[in-house]
Amino acid sequence: MKENLGNLTLELLQSINDAVYILDENGNVIQANDTFCRMLGYDLNELLTLNAKDYNASWDSEKILTTIRQLKNRTETFEIIHRRKDGSSFDAEVSAKGITINKQDYLFCITRDISERKKTQTFIKESEKKFRALFENAMDAILLLDIQSFRIFDCNPATEEMFGKSRNQIIHSLIQEFSPELQKNGEKSDELINFFINKALSGEKTKFEWCFAIADKEILAELNLYKVDINGNSILQLICKDITEKRKSEEQLNLLSQSINQSSSAVIITDINGNIEYVNDTFCKLTGYSREEVIGQNPRFLKSGYTFPETYKKLWENIISGKQWNGEFLNKRKDGTLYWESARISPVKNEQGEITHFIGVKDDVTKLKKLLDELRIAKAKAEETNRLKTSFLANMSHELRTPLVGILGCASMIAEDTKEPLTQELANIINKSGQRLHETLNAILDLTRLESETLPVDLKPVNILPLLRNSYELFLNEAKLKGLNLYLDVDEEEILAFADLSLLKSVLAHLISNAVKYTETGGVSIRAFTNENKIIIKVVDTGIGIPDSYQDIIFEPFRQVSEGYNRQFEGSGLGLTLTKKYVKLMNGRIWFNSKVGEGSAFFVELNATANKIDMSTEVTAQKSVIADFKEKKVLLVEDDPINIQTISAFIGNLVQLTTVNNAADAIAMIKERQFDLILMDIGLSGDKNGLDVAREIRSIKNYFSTPIAAVTAYALDSDREKILSSGCTHYLAKPFPRQKLIELLEEIFSE
Ligand code: ADP
Repeated sequence: MKENLGNLTLELLQSINDAVYILDENGNVIQANDTFCRMLGYDLNELLTLNAKDYNASWDSEKILTTIRQLKNRTETFEIIHRRKDGSSFDAEVSAKGITINKQDYLFCITRDISERKKTQTFIKESEKKFRALFENAMDAILLLDIQSFRIFDCNPATEEMFGKSRNQIIHSLIQEFSPELQKNGEKSDELINFFINKALSGEKTKFEWCFAIADKEILAELNLYKVDINGNSILQLICKDITEKRKSEEQLNLLSQSINQSSSAVIITDINGNIEYVNDTFCKLTGYSREEVIGQNPRFLKSGYTFPETYKKLWENIISGKQWNGEFLNKRKDGTLYWESARISPVKNEQGEITHFIGVKDDVTKLKKLLDELRIAKAKAEETNRLKTSFLANMSHELRTPLVGILGCASMIAEDTKEPLTQELANIINKSGQRLHETLNAILDLTRLESETLPVDLKPVNILPLLRNSYELFLNEAKLKGLNLYLDVDEEEILAFADLSLLKSVLAHLISNAVKYTETGGVSIRAFTNENKIIIKVVDTGIGIPDSYQDIIFEPFRQVSEGYNRQFEGSGLGLTLTKKYVKLMNGRIWFNSKVGEGSAFFVELNATANKIDMSTEVTAQKSVIADFKEKKVLLVEDDPINIQTISAFIGNLVQLTTVNNAADAIAMIKERQFDLILMDIGLSGDKNGLDVAREIRSIKNYFSTPIAAVTAYALDSDREKILSSGCTHYLAKPFPRQKLIELLEEIFSE
């Protein structure tokens, strides 16, 4: 068979550059050129002994024989693996053509080593796979745009997620279809995107911010747009990074850092070792150091040396254990001046709860501290002044009251004893003037008490009717003397109010007294009634009235409608001030209506109560029967000769009265004789005051429980408490009318 082909065939084969060989119908190699020999590593003689199955690593002899049979007069190309003589193998592409020579079938084969091409193909496939995977799994949205129409022809799942649409809803659209009409900079979306596309087409890589608007949702993205060439075809690739959240956080961060920077407090942030990482502008202004000077430093350069080391120790203990520390430092500025700062230092923790930084927020409190110091001094001064005022008032009250005992006492005794009309009239004038002085004194004292002490208020459910009657009766005579009618107009059987009886008594006295005082003709009526849950007391007069401009003024201390040298009415101007304060203390209201020349109506509103009457609040009528205590031995300890005379005149004929004018004589007398009552002046001149004597008396045999009545011009509440807790059992404030002293004797001797 080989002979059939002859040497010519070999020469022909040798002239072909590719590796060529011929197989007979059984697959035996019958001719091959050098290229094929070299390809497989055999020489020609060796090769001519081989069958195709010896170097075709892909097929068995069966497949080889069938292929040869099938390829009669036909050409086909296969990719198979060839094995070299040394056993190594390579990819080969075989083009085989069946030929028939002299009725003999042969296979003419051209073999190319395609291992390099194969490698490249595999590589391309692999990289295509890789890139597809990258495309599919990219976090950023990737969109591929057609270079002609600029329409999207592919996008990755990240785009679907970002746009909230499926791939099918996205492709074939233009970018501007997912964008608002105008971008943030005011330019039209379609014009702007075309501008960037043209830039990308010219080979530039463009990066820009883009705002998408998809279903009312705004997405801010950072876009990278560039042209990509694939196998000679160009496409546009658009990578979109969603920066909506990032931008929001950036804006927030910016806001935060701006607010920290512009904060009126100095802010300082250090690392865990206390080295400064950040300070704001206020810190620089406060300390005088620039930012560059302090970054990286430990804040100890601010120390003035005046803060106790213990303070720093406590500060560190606190913040290292994760707690906030608040405190004050006296620090030093760059120029050496000192300043007080109030600091709050707190640890900053990371997500793992570890402390990473410390943040200090500090305020310059130098001025505040100075102000506080001044305030403290001012307060101390004010307290001292107040103390002096109280003591001044107590002394003045004492000094004014003491002579009043003599004036009022003597005047009333003279008026009682004399038959002489002129003397009687003079005594009455003394008595009236004394009373006025007494009232003014009491009003000033009451006002001081309201301002300097907390006046005890005893609010309880009371029937105010007896008190109204009593107040009415008190002024009957005065009204009658002026030719005025005084009415009490009450329909109800009892009027239950939530009130303090003694305060209400003063309120009524002031209002009725004013009404009578400021009325020349006509009359005054007192009316009281219940109105839902309120009690209204109305004092109406037909007097001179109050001008509108004085509506508020008359409630101010010492203010009167008629003021100055020409004033037409006597009075201190304190009555309504006290009245208003008393009403307020009873949680009530006071107001009035008035017309000049026609009269005034004053209203007091109190809270009503449904409770039963407290019987103890019933006001008892003044007793006028003078009891006789002839058997009672009374010792009067008093250093003022006029007061001794007055009191002696008051009760000298009712009891067995002994008088002494100093502490030593008092003690001696008490030790010598047994008294039933001691009337004790408190402000005794000498070493011991009345309270000292009272205390001493208590240690004397048989005097443990003898009544001691303090008869004193110390009339403040605090005085009263002090007196009653120092051994005295009773208290009578000077000046007092004879009747008051007699009532006291009755009270004591009837116990
Ligand atoms: P005083 O009566 O001692 O002057 P008040 O505080 O009680 O002080 O009253 C203040 C002023 O209000 C009085 O001076 C008087 O001008 C005016 N005022 C009070 N009550 C009446 C009244 N019923 N009618 C007319 N004016 C009055």
